[in-house]
Amino acid sequence: MDWLTDIHDATHQEEVASLWAATAPPGPPLLPLVADTVADVAIVGGGFTGLAAAIALADAQRDVVVLEAAQPGYGASGRNGGQVIPGLKYDPDDLEARHGSDLGPRLVRTVAAGPDLVFELIRRFSIDCDARRAGWIQPSHTEATRRLVERRAAQWQARRAPVRVLDATEVEALTGSRLYNGGWLDERAGTVQPLAYVRGLARAAVGLGVRVHAESPVLGLESDGGGWRLRTPRGTVRARQVIIATNAYSGQLHGALRRSVVAVPSLQVATTPLSAEWRQRILPGRHAVSDTYNLLRYYRLDAAGRLVVGARGQYGQRSGAQLLRHHAAAIAEIYPDLGRPEYDYCWNGYVAVTTDHVPHLHDLGQGIYAALGYNGRGVAMAAMLGRLVAGLALDRPDPDGYVYPVTPLAPIPLHAFSRIGVRATIGWLRMKDGRWLAEGST
Ligand SMILES: Cc1cc2nc3c(=O)[nH]c(=O)nc-3n(C[C@H](O)[C@H](O)[C@H](O)COP(=O)(O)OP(=O)(O)OC[C@H]3O[C@@H](n4cnc5c(N)ncnc54)[C@H](O)[C@@H]3O)c2cc1C
Repeated sequence: MDWLTDIHDATHQEEVASLWAATAPPGPPLLPLVADTVADVAIVGGGFTGLAAAIALADAQRDVVVLEAAQPGYGASGRNGGQVIPGLKYDPDDLEARHGSDLGPRLVRTVAAGPDLVFELIRRFSIDCDARRAGWIQPSHTEATRRLVERRAAQWQARRAPVRVLDATEVEALTGSRLYNGGWLDERAGTVQPLAYVRGLARAAVGLGVRVHAESPVLGLESDGGGWRLRTPRGTVRARQVIIATNAYSGQLHGALRRSVVAVPSLQVATTPLSAEWRQRILPGRHAVSDTYNLLRYYRLDAAGRLVVGARGQYGQRSGAQLLRHHAAAIAEIYPDLGRPEYDYCWNGYVAVTTDHVPHLHDLGQGIYAALGYNGRGVAMAAMLGRLVAGLALDRPDPDGYVYPVTPLAPIPLHAFSRIGVRATIGWLRMKDGRWLAEGST
C-alpha cells in the first residue's frame, strides 16, 4: 500500500497517493501558464470553490483564468470523504435565531441546497464520479446525542426536508453497526468520488472557455492600475478581479486570509474490498455516515466495496503503523466482528477550521474576493460559496435567491501557535469522548 505523504505546501506538486487518485478517470490535459495574459477574473486555486466560481463566471460570459499550484483537486477537494451533506454546524433554528427573520430562512434554504448544486453540476456536465444520492446517516451514541439528532431532524422536518429519525434497530440495519442507540437519515445527501468530481468540474470549466492552468502557483499578487497582476513562475495574469479559493492550502499569498483559518489534519484509510457477505451487512444501501463523537469518524463504501474511514489526522510524517492505530481502533469499535481488515490506502488532507465554525465569504476590497473555512463540510458548501463568490464579482444577486453573509476578514490571534492549540484540543476532545486510555497518546 502507499503510505501517507504530508504535503501542506501547495508549491509541491507530487500526486497524492490516495484511493481517489488510484481510481479517478484522468482530468483534462492542462498546461502551466507560460506567457503574460489578461482576463476579467483570475481565480487562485483549482478545487471545488475555485472551479464552481469559474463555471458560474463563464456562464455569465466572463473571461476567466484559473491558476492552480499543482493539479485540480490537489488540495482537500481531491482528498476528502466525498460525503455531500447539506447544512452547517448550526441547525436551522439556530441559524434563524442568529440571522433574523429575513436573512435567517433564506440562509437555511441556501445551506440546504448545497447538494442540489453538486448533483446538478454532475448531471449538467455528465461527470463520471460514482455519484449516489443514497442519503447520510448521523448515528448517536449517548442519550444526549440521541436527543440532539432528534431535535435536528425535527427542525429540518418542519421545513419539509426529506429526513427522518432512526431507532437503534434501523441504524444497525442501515450501517451494520450495533454501536449506536439511534440517529437520523438525511435523504438530501449522497456521496461522490471526490477527485473524479473535481476533475470533472475542471473539464467542464475548460469546455466553457475557462483557461485552467495547472502547476502554476501564484507567487505574488500586486496592484496594477485598475486591477491586479498575478505572478506565477513562468507567466503573469492581469485581471480586474481576483477570487482566492485556497482554503486550508492557503500559503503566503495573502497572509491575513491564511491566518483566518486553522489547517487541521484529517486522515483516511481504505480497506481492501469487503467480501460480498460483509457488503450485505455494512452500509448495504451505500449511505454515508458521520457520527456524533467530538472527534468524529466518517465512513462510506467506495465503488469497489472498500470501507473508507476518516478521522482526525496528525501533523507531520508518521510511519504506517502509527497512522493506522487510531483508525483501526475506530473500525474495531464500529465493526467488532470484521476482525483485522487489510488496508489498500491511507492519505492525509487539511481541513480549514474557523473559530465560529462556519465558512466565510469575504469581499477583501479593490476587486478581491474569497470563500473558505468549510470546517470539513465543503463538498456541498463549496459548490454554493463558489457560485456566491462569483456573484460578488459579478455584483449581482443570485438568480435562485441563495444568500450568504459577507463578513470582514478576521485573522486569528496567535495563529502561529495554532498547531499546538489543535493538538491540545484533540487531546481534550478525546478525553471527552472517553478514548484517552483506549488509544494511548500520539
Ligand atoms: C481528509 C478530508 C476529508 C474531508 N471530507 C469531507 C466530506 O466527506 N464532506 C465534506 O463536505 N467535506 C469534506 N472535507 C472538506 C472539503 O474537502 C473541503 O471543504 C473542500 O474540498 C474545500 O474546497 P476548496 O476548493 O475551497 O479548497 P481546496 O480543494 O483545498 O483547493 C485549494 C487549492 O488551492 C491551491 N493553491 C493554494 N495556494 C495556491 C497558490 N498560491 N496558487 C495557486 N493555487 C494555490 C491548492 O493547490 C489547492 O488545490 C474533507 C476535507 C479533508 C481534508
